[in-house]
Amino acid sequence: MKKILLDENDIPTSWYNIQADMPHPLDPPLNPKTYEPMRPEELNVIFPMELIRQEVSQERWIPIPEEVREIYRMWRPSPLYRAERLEKALKTPAKIYYKWEGVSPPGSHKPNSAVPQVYYNMKEGIERIATETGAGQWGSALSFSAKLFELQCRVYMVKCSYDQKPYRRVMMENWGAEVYASPSDQTNVGKEIQQKMPDTSGSLGIAISEAVEDAATHDNTNYALGSVLNHVVLHQSIIGLEMKKQFEQIDEYPDIILGCVGGGSNFAGASFPFLMDKIQGKKPDLRAISVEPLSCPTLTKGQFRYDFGDNVGLTPLLKMYTLGHNFVPAAIHAGGLRYHGDSPLLSRLTKEGYMEAVAYHQKEVFDAALLFAKTEGFVVAPEAAHAVKAAIDFALMAKRDNEEKTIVFANSGHGHFDLSAYDLYHQNKIQDYEYPEQLINQAMAELPTF
Ligand SMILES: *Cc1c(COP(=O)(O)O)cnc(C)c1O
Repeated sequence: MKKILLDENDIPTSWYNIQADMPHPLDPPLNPKTYEPMRPEELNVIFPMELIRQEVSQERWIPIPEEVREIYRMWRPSPLYRAERLEKALKTPAKIYYKWEGVSPPGSHKPNSAVPQVYYNMKEGIERIATETGAGQWGSALSFSAKLFELQCRVYMVKCSYDQKPYRRVMMENWGAEVYASPSDQTNVGKEIQQKMPDTSGSLGIAISEAVEDAATHDNTNYALGSVLNHVVLHQSIIGLEMKKQFEQIDEYPDIILGCVGGGSNFAGASFPFLMDKIQGKKPDLRAISVEPLSCPTLTKGQFRYDFGDNVGLTPLLKMYTLGHNFVPAAIHAGGLRYHGDSPLLSRLTKEGYMEAVAYHQKEVFDAALLFAKTEGFVVAPEAAHAVKAAIDFALMAKRDNEEKTIVFANSGHGHFDLSAYDLYHQNKIQDYEYPEQLINQAMAELPTF
């Protein structure tokens, strides 16, 4: 079978919360000023109560509101494909599957969380929502979702993407959002940085600081984050829950699950429903492997410790793998993977050995994306191409060892707004960049100690 499809009625009715099954509980987020554990009410300045409840919930299943399921129907359940033509090209005995999230209107997995986030804000009377976007995928997903519930949407878009990806901005504007290049003149943080560093190309950390300030200083406005946090990972579990049903339908179970990791939401969402089986001892041999760029090697070279989520130190401190909040990543094309930290849940499971991580160079990742386009047809986002590269690698290892492994990867989105990067690839201008150990140590030395 080429693609395994589910009926609309098979859209899960609850999200899966791995906190119920964590071998050890998470360390609490800390107040950025006092370093004391945050009280939920403190977060209420920028988040609705329901999302704060989900952030700390220990319930295994959290019901998906019917209004949200209704919107999910626009593109869910998403297809699970068997990559037969890629398998043939590799001459591998492995079976390769991919869960395709490029079918959503904004083109990635991100609306899986943007839709419920806007919904809960709307329910609690919020009229306007502020966020940041790097590559433009999260900003698009939030703009789309805000329009569906008639909230205003303000997006701080990292300056280099704003300049390089005008079409992502236009897409957000099509859904009615206001988009500013960050650092902007709309916030105090932005104005200060503009003064200090007039030539800066911006960073995700700076844009987060701007959006958080915007939300904290407007009563009718909340902030929304597209990855990292537990409630985002929770919403993304819809990916893995559907995958489980799809594998049941063909009477299979994966040996290896792969996904690219920026903040960890698509891969955590795809893998956690399977990791539940591993943690519970039902599938001890299952391997869940995060894939990241060597230019931003958070899991493979970072440290597991408390750090801020943004550059300025406005957000709570989270215990996670981090390269340091002052880390300035190289301008690689997988913009969505240029974040210094990672989901605390995914970090913890990696630290405890339930998950693994690998890292690749940019050029080999594009090679893989091209082979994928030429066999399977889809032009994937440079972020998703990291998962493609790993799937190819593991399929070739299976060939070497003559093993019939079942490999599945989360294919997080399409690359239709990344064609200028593909153009550079064709001109042989894609450069590799490995983040130097020395700079990592330098950024680490600037982390809070207590
Ligand atoms: C944002 C994005 C990512 C990275 O974010 P995660 O939270 O790690 O999933 C990966 N792929 C695509 C297509 C994205 O838009």
